[in-house]
Amino acid sequence: MFKVLTEDQELKEVPLDTNGTYGGDPDFPETTSGCFLGLSNYTAYDSCPKPECFNKKLVDDQCPSCMAAVQPTPYGYCKVLMEVEGEIKSYTMFHRELSSIIGSFDPKLCENDICNLAAATFQGTYQFLEKRGTIIYITKS
Ligand SMILES: [Zn+2]
Repeated sequence: MFKVLTEDQELKEVPLDTNGTYGGDPDFPETTSGCFLGLSNYTAYDSCPKPECFNKKLVDDQCPSCMAAVQPTPYGYCKVLMEVEGEIKSYTMFHRELSSIIGSFDPKLCENDICNLAAATFQGTYQFLEKRGTIIYITKS
């Protein structure tokens, strides 16, 4: 039921404008409201630390975006199950968004530790934006 990200899927940074919207970008029509159900399949990996590479996963210690051999920076992603309008949906969520909900944590932690951390704080209903199944912005509603 869970899908693992392929290496060429990457997180795109989309800054909120001053109104808290995405400036009419048709890729980001509205936030979705969903109730958090669970989290699984946390995967830690080494990423590129350059801001313009958005924590791209390293391949053989090299960044596929900037092609530089860089100091590996721990990062990770997981699957988040949300109930949206009566349907259960699975989304990918990266370390940055996850830590915005459960607080900063070591990306190298194992899945069990992440799930325990999340269970304590990641509860209830959230507003979020997603693109291609990845949650790119999330906030408690
Ligand atoms: Zn890079």
